[in-house]
Parts: sequence; structure tokens; C-alpha cells
Amino acid sequence: YIDIRFGAILQKHKPTTTCTKINKSKMASMAMPEDVLMNEALIRDLEAVAKDTAVLLGVLMRTKETPNSSEVVCFAPFSLFPSPLPKVLFDQALAVQTNFNRLVDMISQDSKFLQEALASTIKVDDFTARLFNIYRHILQEGCSQPIAVGLNRSDYMLDRGTDGNTTLKQIEINTIAASFGGLSSRTPAVHRHILKVAGRLEERKMILDNNPAAGLAKALALAWKLYGSDRAVVMFLVEDCQINIYDHRYVENELWNRNIPVVRRRFEDVCKTGLLDQDKRLFVDGQEVALVYFRNGYMPQNYTEQSWEARLMMERSLAVKCPDIGTHLAGTKKVQQELARPGVLEKFFPDDPEAVAQMRATFAGLYTLDEGEEGDKTVAMALANPDQYVLKPQREGGGNNIYGADICQVLSGEKGSSDRTAYILMDKVHPQPVYNYLLRSGYPLKLSTCLSELGIFGAYVRQGTNMLLNECPGHLLRTKSSEYSDGGVAAGVAVLDNPILI
Ligand code: ADP
Ligand code: MG
Ligand code: MG
Repeated sequence: YIDIRFGAILQKHKPTTTCTKINKSKMASMAMPEDVLMNEALIRDLEAVAKDTAVLLGVLMRTKETPNSSEVVCFAPFSLFPSPLPKVLFDQALAVQTNFNRLVDMISQDSKFLQEALASTIKVDDFTARLFNIYRHILQEGCSQPIAVGLNRSDYMLDRGTDGNTTLKQIEINTIAASFGGLSSRTPAVHRHILKVAGRLEERKMILDNNPAAGLAKALALAWKLYGSDRAVVMFLVEDCQINIYDHRYVENELWNRNIPVVRRRFEDVCKTGLLDQDKRLFVDGQEVALVYFRNGYMPQNYTEQSWEARLMMERSLAVKCPDIGTHLAGTKKVQQELARPGVLEKFFPDDPEAVAQMRATFAGLYTLDEGEEGDKTVAMALANPDQYVLKPQREGGGNNIYGADICQVLSGEKGSSDRTAYILMDKVHPQPVYNYLLRSGYPLKLSTCLSELGIFGAYVRQGTNMLLNECPGHLLRTKSSEYSDGGVAAGVAVLDNPILI
């Protein structure tokens, strides 16, 4: 799987800089004025400065060739220049985050809602069904841990409406393994240095401070403390292929700075040595685990039969889970679509119409594909205008969505087929493209028309019915060339970026 995601990076290009002419007819805006973007000598200098600065400041990834060793490392992909973003929309995304935290947390505890929302999906989607089986198991057995900690990231794109207005539209909320809180804590310093060398001091001042790593760790630290055992560890449940380890390490080191012990373990390790004692305390390698922080386990490929058992054991245990199984399920695309139905947000926030309006304002059109009249209508709508929509399965990690003619292929199968209920349909969001340069190892630098996606991190800790912490610890801007319709940084498509608020 990793081979596919990072295969492109293997291409052996000799990096050269090309300042393709800016095509005004494309109507893209610019990350920098034209005289900067088209100054080939300057861009070449900045490219070298940028890569070295990223390495010096720790915006790093391991390489595809040696994903489990730090002997050879590389800069993480990032944009040469920060990207413009309207301040009102950025502020809107920040302001709504604590409500999304509350919403996700409420959904995770609402078994009736989750059961109804996912009923059709789990009939056809095996992965969601297996997650749901674990959820059911925990419901029957009774949840042994009243402490909940959620670290999520709500992602948005800016939609350029036909009326000329730009609006903030939520793409999804990631409730498990939301990444890049670590590296995005270091990218502001990289862009500040690039802009200093480029002589762009005005823009330099506009780069926001950002430190999600500290805020994410703060929530984990509180949950660890509430668990109440100094010797118990925080266990990062990590992938076999640890190419993005430094992103984790920033969060991990924030915990060590608080003298909280952290271990990194894979599913395989938990399978081999994990056990529950008679009080359901979780032990791995003989160490008591206070908190499991899942940075893995969000894709079918992450699981063997044994790791499914290990997941169940961890969920059943007294350890705090970040996220627990209910919170994981709250992040499915099907739940997102159900939330967009009239009256659903109101049920979760009966006394807070303002919060409801604030959240709903960020929703794009979302449509059910359940069997029946409503789903049939969605199919007809999609087939009539496939380019206006995105077809989404219950998957994470980028690269899974279906676009354009492929939508017709999937949906025009046997009429009324239950297979379609594995997906939801969403309005396609059309952001304003921006000219920028994207730095990726092995690729020649070239001017690209780019689209950005803003992520807002959320962090909360609840004990029983008391919300003890509910915060928005920072943001992440990811930018990709507009030639790709899908795919994140880990998928080798998007790069790290910073917003410049305009
Ligand atoms: P994943 O959980 O795999 O990240 P997303 O819903 O975030 O799934 O979709 C992956 C990518 O597809 C996004 O990062 C974005 O680039 C693109 N995408 C998703 N939904 C839309 C949409 N409604 N309009 C335009 N692009 C979208
Ligand atoms: Mg996701
Ligand atoms: Mg996404």
C-alpha cells in the first residue's frame, strides 16, 4: 500500500526549476506577485534555502526506501510560499471547532443514532461492519472507562460560489489518527525564513504562529493524569511503515517534557504481549497502558485477523482510547451525511440554535444513497451532472473518492443495487486556484495551479458527563496541484503549507 502512496517519489528526476508562464486566462490568483513567481534565479535560490531550512527546523519525513530508519531522512513535502486565505473564513473555521468537538463526542455516546446512521452502510461495507461489531461488543459489555479524549481535525475547502461569494465548506472530520499536528507546528518558521530571504517582509509578518502539537499533547496529558497511575504509559499505536514518525515525535516529546512515559507499539506487538488483568487494565510488554493513541487502524489494510482481536482487547480495556470506537465511527462519511439532514443537529443541540447554525453553515450538500426513493433521487441527480459531485466510500487516508465519469460507472450498475449504500454523495467544492511552487523530493520544481484545504485541530477531554477541556489547538494548511482531485500529504499528493490571512 505504501508503495502505491509513495511510489511516485521514487521517480528519478533531476530537479530543475521551471517557471512556466502564468496563464492569466486560468484566473488563478498568486501566492506571491508575478515578479517573484517568475524570477527563475530567485526561485532556484529559494528552493535550496527552503529545503535546507525545512531540514534544519525539523519539517522531516523518513524516506520511502528506509521508512523504519532515521539514517536517511528528507524534508517533508511543502509549498515554497504560503497561500492566501480570507481571514473571515479562517476565523469562522476556528470559531466552530469547539462545537464540532462537542458534536463528535455526543455522537460517540449515542448508540441509537450511530446504529441508525450506519445500519445500511454496515450491510455492505465490511470494514465499517467490523468496527461496528466492536462497538456493539462494548455496548453489551459496558464501557469500562469514563474518561474520553478526542483529537480530531475538521477539514475545509473554500467554495467559490457562482454568485461570486466564497464560503467555507467542511470536507470531513477526521476522528482517528488526524495527522500533521506535529510538522505543522514547525512550518511557520520555514516560511518565515523563505520570505525573509525573498525580501517579502510584509507577508512574513502575516504568517500565523501555530503549535497544534502542544495542544494535542495537553489533552493527552490530562487524560493520562486522570487515569491516575504515574507508572502507566501512553502507547502510540503505530503503523508497520513509519515514514511519518517525526510528526508523531513532536507530540510524543511534548508528553516526555511533562514526564509522561510514551511507548510506540504496533498491532503485532499488542497481539504478542498484550493482556487484560482481572480489572481490565491493559498491559503491553508488561507495562500498564493508561492511554492508547491510535495513529494506525483507520484503514482495512491496517488489520489482520489478529489485529482485529487486539483492537477489541484495547477497546474493552480500562485504558483511555484516543479515539474510542464510538468516536472512530462518528468520523465516518455516512455519519457526516446523516448529520446534514434537516433536524439532526437540532437533536444534539436542542438549546443552542446558534451552534446549530454555525455548524450547518459549513456543510456542503450531502446526499444519501440508501435503498429507496431518496437514494434513487440521489443517483439520478449524480448521473445527470457527475462533475458536480464527489462519491465517497467509508475510507480514510486520501485517494479513495470517485469523480466524474467513474461516478456514473459505479452508480449506473444494477438499479437499486445495495452496493451503492457503501458510499455517500457530496457536492463538489470549487476553490479558487492559486499559483505556487510545491517542493517534493524527486520532483522538479515547477509553477503549479494549486488548491488548498484548511484543517482545524480539535482537542477535548471528558470524564463521565463533565467536559474538562474543549479546545482548538491549531491548524494545518495542505495544498495540492489542481491536476489531482484527491489525496493528502501522506498519499504523496498534497504538501504542507501555511495560510496568509487576507
Ligand atoms: P479522506 O478521509 O480520505 O481524507 P476526504 O473526504 O478528505 O477523505 O477526501 C479526500 C480528498 O478529496 C480531500 O482532501 C479533497 O482534496 C478531495 N475532496 C473530498 N471531498 C471533496 C469535495 N466535496 N469537493 C472537492 N474535493 C473534495
Ligand atoms: Mg479523512
Ligand atoms: Mg481528508
